[in-house]
Amino acid sequence: MSAEDVKINGTLIWYYCVCKREAWLIARSIVADQENEFIEIGRFINESSYQREKKEMQIGNIKLDILKMDNGQIVIGEVKKSSKFKLAARMQLLFYLSILKENGISARGELYFPEEKKREEVLLNEEALTELEQMKQDILKIIYLEQPPAARKIPFCKNCAYAEFCFA
Ligand code: SF4
Repeated sequence: MSAEDVKINGTLIWYYCVCKREAWLIARSIVADQENEFIEIGRFINESSYQREKKEMQIGNIKLDILKMDNGQIVIGEVKKSSKFKLAARMQLLFYLSILKENGISARGELYFPEEKKREEVLLNEEALTELEQMKQDILKIIYLEQPPAARKIPFCKNCAYAEFCFA
């Protein structure tokens, strides 16, 4: 596996925040048990995208739930079913904001958790940018490990496609 093989994307960031071992497996395109895979894909879409009931918007490769103007500023947003994976959602949105910034587009982010009646602003300030860069470096470090990080039981394992692989 060479450096050119890996392109960090929003999905990888999301998995890294939830389970580093899963990020390694996904980056290596290691396919999990087909039967379970559907369970996980379904759950992932449900958790991360709130079923994308609204019209999805796209800027380049970035798919977004919300793209709007607010007081002359571009706002991108994601709607999540719950705040359970808030860190993952926040880092994913920061990543999208950084891509926009690289393309000369200044924007701010908003995460929506309608079932919890919560909204959270996500700003790509210096601190967040440093946090994101460190995370990207760490993701690459993990991905290039010869072996995946050890399996560690977390609530997310319950329906994970790799559960059998990790704990059989
Ligand atoms: S089963 Fe658990 S430890 Fe294994 S990849 Fe899935 S979430 Fe990670």
